Amino acid sequence: MRKADLQKFKKVFVQQREEILANAKLLDEGFVIRDDVQDDADQATSGIELSMRAQMKRREVAMLRRIDEALKRLGDGTFGQCKRCEESIELRRLQARPTTGLCILCQEEAEKESATSSVGRTGDHLLN
Ligand SMILES: [Zn+2]
Repeated sequence: MRKADLQKFKKVFVQQREEILANAKLLDEGFVIRDDVQDDADQATSGIELSMRAQMKRREVAMLRRIDEALKRLGDGTFGQCKRCEESIELRRLQARPTTGLCILCQEEAEKESATSSVGRTGDHLLN
């Protein structure tokens, strides 16, 4: 991959990372604001809010992990290379899904495997 393209991806990841971290901070501040709710109705609402926030946070943590991994691959020169077959991942695919670590063929394979391996083998597919 060209150096200019790598730089572009790096910029995208750094920016996404900052956005997620800023979001996470807002979520945390939301918790503090809701801390002093007293009556039952409000507490029920804040319970739902809490679980929604927890869910959002889980998603953000997962996204952060993907971004960090992609940044690491940018650093060690394996970005844009399929983790499974080591072929180059199509630039178009990377532009659509920058954090992907698999080429389209291996992605399809992995999806097939995770669909058929729900009984028995778990957790060892490459999708995380
Ligand atoms: Zn592949």
